[in-house]
Amino acid sequence: MAWRPESGELVDFDVVIIGAGAAGLYALHRVRGLGLSAKVYEKGDGVGGTWYWNRYPGARCDVESWDYCYTFSEELELEWEWTERFPTQPELERYFNHVADRFDLRRDIEFETRVDQARFDDDQCRWLISTSNGETVSARFLISAAGCLSEVNTPRFEGVETFEGRQIHTARWPKGGIDVTGMRVGVIGTGSTAVQAIPQLAKQADHLFVFQRTPQFAIPARNRPIDADHLEELKHNYRERWELKRSNPVGMGRRPPEVSSALEVDETTRTRIMEDSWALGGPGFARTFDDVMTNAESNQITSQFVLDKIKEKVADPAVAESLLAIDHPLGARRLIVEIDYFETYNRENVTLVDVATAPIEEITPQGLRTTEDSYELDLIVYATGFDGMTGALLAMDIRGVGGLPLRAKWAEGAGAYLGLVASGFPNFFMITGPGSPAVFSNVIFSIEQHVDWIADCLAHMLDHGLHRIDADPEAEAQWTQQVHDIAAQSIVGKTDSWWTGANIEGKPQGVTFYLGGTHTYREICEENAANGYKGFVFREAHHTAARKPHLRWNQR
Ligand code: NAP
Repeated sequence: MAWRPESGELVDFDVVIIGAGAAGLYALHRVRGLGLSAKVYEKGDGVGGTWYWNRYPGARCDVESWDYCYTFSEELELEWEWTERFPTQPELERYFNHVADRFDLRRDIEFETRVDQARFDDDQCRWLISTSNGETVSARFLISAAGCLSEVNTPRFEGVETFEGRQIHTARWPKGGIDVTGMRVGVIGTGSTAVQAIPQLAKQADHLFVFQRTPQFAIPARNRPIDADHLEELKHNYRERWELKRSNPVGMGRRPPEVSSALEVDETTRTRIMEDSWALGGPGFARTFDDVMTNAESNQITSQFVLDKIKEKVADPAVAESLLAIDHPLGARRLIVEIDYFETYNRENVTLVDVATAPIEEITPQGLRTTEDSYELDLIVYATGFDGMTGALLAMDIRGVGGLPLRAKWAEGAGAYLGLVASGFPNFFMITGPGSPAVFSNVIFSIEQHVDWIADCLAHMLDHGLHRIDADPEAEAQWTQQVHDIAAQSIVGKTDSWWTGANIEGKPQGVTFYLGGTHTYREICEENAANGYKGFVFREAHHTAARKPHLRWNQR
C-alpha cells in the first residue's frame, strides 16, 4: 500500500487514469487543465497504447493519417507532418511520444504499472486503486482509457507448451523485431492484423503457412507518401476537415457519398461509382453507398464487385476459391484494408491452409497439426485478435457500490449510460466504453469527444460543488436498449466476430457499439450536457462522510 510515510495516509489524486494510449494522454491533458491532480498508470514502458503494443511487421493504421490524429491543438495539428496516407506503427509511436513531450505529460505517468483492482468506497466517495507494483492510491475519480483492443486473445490449443520453436501473439511483438529469415512461419488468423503481417513475413520467411478459418473482404489501401503539395493542402484545410469529421457518421473527414443507394442509379453509373471508390481504396469503400450496411441488395451488389476484384488478383483458382469463400456480407465484419495481401498468395513460399474444414487440433513440438495434416514450423504467430470492448476493463477487478464487481454487473452483457458511466459505479468514467461508438469510428476522434465530455462534466461538478456522479439505472437501461435496437437494423451483429463477442468463449453475445453514427452520438452527448446531464445522478459534497478534504478539489 502506498501510504504516505509521514502521515500514514493514502496517496490521494483527484483523478486516476488507466492507460497512456491516445485516450489516456488526452484525458491527462484535459484534467490537468481543470487544475486537478492526476496519475496515469500504464502497463507498457512507453506511451501510445495500441501503437506501443502492436509492433508486428506491417503494422499500420488503416485510417488515413490526416484523420487519425488529435484535433484539440491547432499548433499540434499544424506542426506535425505525416509522411504517408496510412501511418506505420513507428510513425504513430513517434507521434504519441511527441504529444507526451509537447504537453509535458510524462511526469504524471507511471509506466510498467498495471491497475489490478479498483474499489469504490462509498462513505468517502473515493476510489481505492491497487496496482501491480503493490501500491494502493486513492482518487476522487477513476477514468478508464484502457482501450477497446488491448486484452489479447490467444486460443488455448492443446500442446501449446510442447512447441520447441517460438510462438508469439502479434500484439506482443518484441521491440527489436524478429528476424524470420530462413524460418518456417505459421500465421494463425486472417483478420486485419494478419492481413498486414502476412505480406511482410512472406518476404523474409523461408516458407509461410497461413491458417485461415474465415476468409474476409479486404480493400486495397492504395497507400502513398504525402508529398509537399498534399501536406500544404492538409494544413490549409484542417479546419474544414474537422467540420467534415463532426458531421460524418464514423468521424472521418470525408464528404457524403455521391449517391445514397446503389439501387438509386443504373448499372453503368453504379459500376462507375464503385470503380472510383475502389481506385481510391481505403476504409471509405464501406461507404461507397450510404446503405451498404443496411440494405441487403445494395450490400450484395457491392460485395460481388469486391469478390470479382479479388478473384483477378489470385493466380491459383483453388487458392482464390478458398480466399473467396466469404460467408458474410461486406461490412458485417470489420472491413480490412490491405497492401499486397492477395498477391502474396501468388508467391511460391506461401501456402494457404483452410482450417475451417480441417481445424487445428493441437500444437506439437515440431509445429501444428490439423485434422488433416501436420506442419513443421519454427515460429507460430497468433494473429488471433483481442477480447474487444470489455476485455481490458474486466481484466481488472473493478468494484462499485456495495462491492459489486463490474464482471457481475456485465455478466449478461455490457452497457453504460451513453457508454460513459455504468450505474452503480460512481465517479468512474469510461472512454470508448460499451454503449458508445468506440472503435466503430475513427477512434481517436471519438476519444477526443468522450474526453471533452468527461472533462466538461468534471468542470460542471467542480463549479456546482458536486462530488459524486452516477448513472440512473433506468436511463442506462433505455440507452442500452437503444444501442441494441439500432444494431438490430444493421448487418453488424448478424455475423459472428469480435464485434459481437463471438471470438471469446463464454462472453455474452451482442453488439455493444452505438451504431447510430458518431455525429448523432455527439449531438446526444452535447444536448445531455447542455440540459443539465439528464440521466445522471449527482450528489453534493456535504453528503460525503467527513474526511480530510482533498485540497485541490476544494480549492478551485
Ligand atoms: P480479428 O479480426 O479478431 O482476427 C482474428 C483472426 O484469428 C481471425 O481470422 C480468426 O478466425 C482467427 N482465429 C482466432 N482463433 C482461432 C482459432 N482457434 N483457430 C483458427 N483461427 C483463429 O483480430 P485482428 O486481426 O487482430 O483485428 C482485430 C481488430 O483490431 C480489427 O478488426 C481492427 O478493429 C483492429 N485492427 C486495426 C488495424 C489497423 O488499423 N490497421 C490493424 C489490425 C487490427 P475467425 O474469424 O474464424 O474467428
